[in-house]
Amino acid sequence: MARALYMDDSYLKRWNAKVSSVKDEKYITLDNTAFYPKGGGQPWDEGYIIKNNEKFRVVYVGKFSGEISHEVEISGLKVGDIVSCELDWERRYTFMRYHTASHLISNILYNRANAKITGNQIEMDKTRMDFSMIDYSPEKLQAYVDEANSIIQQDLLITIEYMSRQDVLGKPELARLAVGLPENIKEFRIVKIGDVDIQVDGGTHVNNLKEIGTIELTKTVNKGKNNRRMYFVLK
Ligand SMILES: [Zn+2]
Repeated sequence: MARALYMDDSYLKRWNAKVSSVKDEKYITLDNTAFYPKGGGQPWDEGYIIKNNEKFRVVYVGKFSGEISHEVEISGLKVGDIVSCELDWERRYTFMRYHTASHLISNILYNRANAKITGNQIEMDKTRMDFSMIDYSPEKLQAYVDEANSIIQQDLLITIEYMSRQDVLGKPELARLAVGLPENIKEFRIVKIGDVDIQVDGGTHVNNLKEIGTIELTKTVNKGKNNRRMYFVLK
């Protein structure tokens, strides 16, 4: 199985790899990759796989049966090829900023209003979050976003660590998420924002909270009893 390099280093933009399989000429697996596959509300990475100066544009990355598969635009890659890889960094970095911002917001919503996130989708120019909240008001939501922005001003670092299933279940703030996690996973990747937030997560994040910039609430939609949708952008 390919090593997912983004799990431990979100800032890796270029690396070397070997082609380990090719399906239908355009679905490629590598022995190691930093291309993030679509999942957890974060879109897939794009970029290039390069062989002898020939560039194969990566247009989609997904995870299938545990393997990270890269869809390239043109055929020509063969099993055993030694290649270099390059991320579309602007795209990835945008997703990192939005992903960390969404953790911070979901933390405040949970702590202040016991609101639960029911869905989220990161995009290049905005992020959507669905949540269930009793006693919602636009003023309250704006106050939570303001609180998030003031936390961003603190110099907090985002760190990654791994924890056993037993340790995850022993931490109440993680257990609420861990209940639905697959039984066969023995080790969990934990993303921490300073001592403010801790979550089980497979996404890519910025190193320092300040990299997010400023969160601006752009739109809210009433999705029925206690269910809301919000959109935010980063400035
Ligand atoms: Zn996440």
